Amino acid sequence: MNATEIKKVKAFLSTPKNIVIVTHWSPDGDAMGSSLGLYNYLIQKKHKVTVITPNDYPSFLFWLPGNNKVIDFSKKAKVAKAAVAKSELIFCLDFNSLKRIYDLGIEVAKSKAPKFIIDHHQQPEDFATYMLHTIEACSTCELVYDFINLMGDSKLINKNIADCLYTGIMTDTGSFRFPSTTAKTHKIVAELITAGANNSEIHNHIYDDNSESRLRLLGYCLSEKLTVLKEYNTAFFSLRSDELKRFNYKKGDTESVVNYALSIEGICFAAFFVERDDAVKTSFRSKGTFDVNVFARKNFNGGGHKHAAGGSSEDTLDESLIKFIALLPEYKKQLTHKKKK
Ligand code: 5GP
Ligand code: MN
Repeated sequence: MNATEIKKVKAFLSTPKNIVIVTHWSPDGDAMGSSLGLYNYLIQKKHKVTVITPNDYPSFLFWLPGNNKVIDFSKKAKVAKAAVAKSELIFCLDFNSLKRIYDLGIEVAKSKAPKFIIDHHQQPEDFATYMLHTIEACSTCELVYDFINLMGDSKLINKNIADCLYTGIMTDTGSFRFPSTTAKTHKIVAELITAGANNSEIHNHIYDDNSESRLRLLGYCLSEKLTVLKEYNTAFFSLRSDELKRFNYKKGDTESVVNYALSIEGICFAAFFVERDDAVKTSFRSKGTFDVNVFARKNFNGGGHKHAAGGSSEDTLDESLIKFIALLPEYKKQLTHKKKK
């Protein structure tokens, strides 16, 4: 975003407008935190703001301020379509391609309203008028914080905004431990706590809200479903739909299971495969130089970041696993994780 664009957007937002905020399929903490952080900012400026998600998201995010106003396109398509049709500006948060919002993307593409991408994923597609984008940002929430500052409105960052933005920064950095966490991240987080974000309470909302069955599912994954391929410094889990059923699976229950595979000493590539109704959903994580964004794009119709990416496969679960294992020799040279002494 250059100085002229900042001026233009600032002028545009100086009078009340109809604004839509959309975020990616299966929204996570950063998707919802950034969308509702921006929502809680824009409503203070008297805009009429509608946050639309393509589908539902985990219940541990329902406490976020403004959540009761969110429209789920998969359940309320008519209301969502009307809001998009009426919108004068559409913010696209935490995604880089309209494919990531599926049928909602058709509505967004149809709209003549300018689009504004705020995102930190690699290789953004060219569908927006405005873009606040850098892969250096730890999260989209960090960029929403920057955006509010660029608009000269740092004083408007209240507790609601601070709680939302803290949530996304915390979840996308794995609680401030991924390499994407910088001094800037910590400075922003300090400002958010000063503005009222309750860090300890947010942590409890997100991480200490497990159902018994979720914890048992994790235990089952760890004891029964983990495969470690030492030769490739790779470890992965997979779950069939009958196993999900057995553990009374709810949205979000398998989130971050993949990180346990990555936590094994010497492992630099971790994957998770889960059987969904229409496809197999994959999650990839890495440490060191191995780029899972490239891997997911090339082999599993996906994308994301260097160390965290996802994708999907229309093959069966077993076929997907066979494909995955067969790909590893090709990447063997890259799959080394040298520990710093
Ligand atoms: P997760 O494994 O937690 O679902 O996703 C990890 C990262 O990869 C997130 O930044 C997410 O936005 C991205 N991602 C997950 N699934 C997909 C996908 O199917 N396509 C693309 N392009 N990115 C994905
Ligand atoms: Mn993100």
